[in-house]
Amino acid sequence: MTDIVQPSRRAVAEPLVKAAKPDEVVAWFCTNCGTVYKTKEEAERCTVKRGDIPSECCTEWSCEECGAPSFSVYQRYCHGCMNTRRAKREQESLAKAEKVIEAKDYPEDQGVVYDGKFYCSIEGFVEHCEDEGIEVPARVWATTPSKFALNADEILDYAWECFLDGCDELDMSNIEVADEFRAAVKSFNEQQKATMYWECGTAVDLTT
Ligand SMILES: [Zn+2]
Ligand SMILES: [Zn+2]
Repeated sequence: MTDIVQPSRRAVAEPLVKAAKPDEVVAWFCTNCGTVYKTKEEAERCTVKRGDIPSECCTEWSCEECGAPSFSVYQRYCHGCMNTRRAKREQESLAKAEKVIEAKDYPEDQGVVYDGKFYCSIEGFVEHCEDEGIEVPARVWATTPSKFALNADEILDYAWECFLDGCDELDMSNIEVADEFRAAVKSFNEQQKATMYWECGTAVDLTT
């Protein structure tokens, strides 16, 4: 990171002291406009505007990365730098992925995840990058399909527990034709089409 750009004009912050507990600072306020902030640093970054002229703000604050003006007290970076930093973080965690597969080995119709967003396919993701004028990153997150399904044994266990209600006179061997129920659930599961795609910690290498 480049050197932190300090504000050219920092607001004077004074503490607000609660009378009940002597000297206990409960908040800070900007002496220019009186706006109250939780911390001294926030008060010093006060960007309350007097009119629409930026130079009339209590402070002149700039992006800590590139120095571009930023007029939100809670915003340390401009939009551009924020996006760059997010992309960098995402690439760093993608670089550490335990498993990496090549794009050519990844199913064409399977979704990928990048920066917390889901894309229907690698192709769809690349198109999105082109539309937004973003450089296609080296890696994206792979997903794994998960079909809607019931678990026959979990259903039986739960229903049996409810039926016994704390008694232990019977055990599950008393359930008749449990295997028929399992077979019916298996057939039910096989006919389900609803699918969700979950990020699975595997990265897809888009450079190959
Ligand atoms: Zn102010
Ligand atoms: Zn910036």
